[in-house]
Amino acid sequence: MLLARAGVGRLRLYDRDFVELNNLQRQVLYDESDVAQDLPKAQAAARRIAAVNSEVEALPFVCDVNVSNIRGVVRDADLVVDGTDSFETRLLINDACLEAGRPWVYAGCIGASVAAMAVVPGRTPCLRCLLPDLPPPGSSPTCDTAGILNSTVMLAVSFQVSEAVKILAGKLDDLVLGVFNADLWRGEFQVVRLNPRSDCPACVRKRYDHLNGSIGSHATSLCGRKAVQILPASAAPICLDDLSRRLAALGKVRCNGLLLKFAAEDFEMTVFVDGRAIIHGTDDAARARALYARYIGT
Ligand SMILES: [Zn+2]
Repeated sequence: MLLARAGVGRLRLYDRDFVELNNLQRQVLYDESDVAQDLPKAQAAARRIAAVNSEVEALPFVCDVNVSNIRGVVRDADLVVDGTDSFETRLLINDACLEAGRPWVYAGCIGASVAAMAVVPGRTPCLRCLLPDLPPPGSSPTCDTAGILNSTVMLAVSFQVSEAVKILAGKLDDLVLGVFNADLWRGEFQVVRLNPRSDCPACVRKRYDHLNGSIGSHATSLCGRKAVQILPASAAPICLDDLSRRLAALGKVRCNGLLLKFAAEDFEMTVFVDGRAIIHGTDDAARARALYARYIGT
């Protein structure tokens, strides 16, 4: 919405999800009428943007952004702005933008804390300089397991849009150098200087592991079972006890130390110690990936 109000002429909006009541606490593009109509988020966002600035062309794409389509997403863009909830997707964006020479702006938030950074290929360090390996599944809190203070999103977006406007205006010398970190609960704000890693596989060696599929999760529909198996990108063992504590308030959890069963909404998820999960109640791989990202994290 800020980019539309600033007069950015064309916005392509990619989202696989639909608007739910529990999104409204922090996702200010949407309202109760979007929930009542079960609108896909990309569609609801495009409508809102058209109402804010009718001169902006807002194009909704209701789809899962993944390794099969990311090159097409990035190819014709002057700039990519990350609004995702998964490090795996962000590292995929990072690879695709480096390969295509496109700038992008990362931002993430959880609880009351924010991390954000602009990446300009050939000029700044990249996300993989900051995060060489994916955190093991289940090791990081998610918006659904830890919650989020809604003002935190506004802070992340403020930083992100400021950097985006500088890039679009060609003011690359004015970009913040490093990672913007903030904690609104503690009142801490800082920019952590980040040097490019001399051995970064992505921006130095031009080896795009996430883009070429050598690192990444896999979702497979299990034939005839209305279930999808998710194999996470990282095979590091996860602590099921920690995970059951985090999920306890969100649904029914059973855990025997070898596997964890979690039932909520209209699905049941079985999570194994190696991070693998079988999601029962859907045969839609994109929805299964979304549920995994929401409850287990990446
Ligand atoms: Zn790098």
